[in-house]
Amino acid sequence: MSDTIFGKIVSGEIPSEFIYEDEHCIAINDVNPQAPVHVLVIPKRDIPRLVDAEMDDRDLLGHLLLAAGNVARQLGVDEAFRLIINNGSDAGQTVFHLHLHIIAGRKFAEGHMAG
Ligand code: 5GP
Repeated sequence: MSDTIFGKIVSGEIPSEFIYEDEHCIAINDVNPQAPVHVLVIPKRDIPRLVDAEMDDRDLLGHLLLAAGNVARQLGVDEAFRLIINNGSDAGQTVFHLHLHIIAGRKFAEGHMAG
């Protein structure tokens, strides 16, 4: 497991409330939420960045998207949410264990990628 904070959360070394868990991933509330709903979907497998994923990870990557949809449904935000992956520090990635941000619960600017 990765030595990052998310690796330690996945392994249980750092206790955290999982709002969702299955064989391949967990979901937790972001500690610094950018919207009323801000959840992180984190694979149990240690992949630092999206670009580090390989062909063998394709089922896992699909699984993460399906899990994100399930978590959004579980939280009642499946009609409107954003899914974000930051890849690399210049793109805002701060934890180098792949994760998907589910952000919802507020209106987003139309036609913009951020905001
Ligand atoms: P990144 O910037 O790497 O895409 O996203 C990392 C996210 O992890 C940030 O939104 C940050 O608030 C969140 N985060 C960092 N440390 C912790 C933590 O210990 N617990 C939780 N739940 N979220 C964290």
